[in-house]
Amino acid sequence: MSDERIDRDFNSRDLKDREELMHHTWCDVCQQVDLGMTDPQEYELHGIVFIEGRCQVCGNPVYTEIDDES
Ligand SMILES: [Zn+2]
Repeated sequence: MSDERIDRDFNSRDLKDREELMHHTWCDVCQQVDLGMTDPQEYELHGIVFIEGRCQVCGNPVYTEIDDES
């Protein structure tokens, strides 16, 4: 399996999707859900789609795994 990260276009998602994805986060540093993220980047790795951004509270990276491949 490739370790290559394939960039995807987060901005091609619906605004509603984007808002939800940017809101529903888990931050390992804050140990809290739904703090929100900034600078979202979407990519695919090992066949799984991820949104990576920065925690709005502490600024550390947060990752969301997406399972709605539609
Ligand atoms: Zn945080």
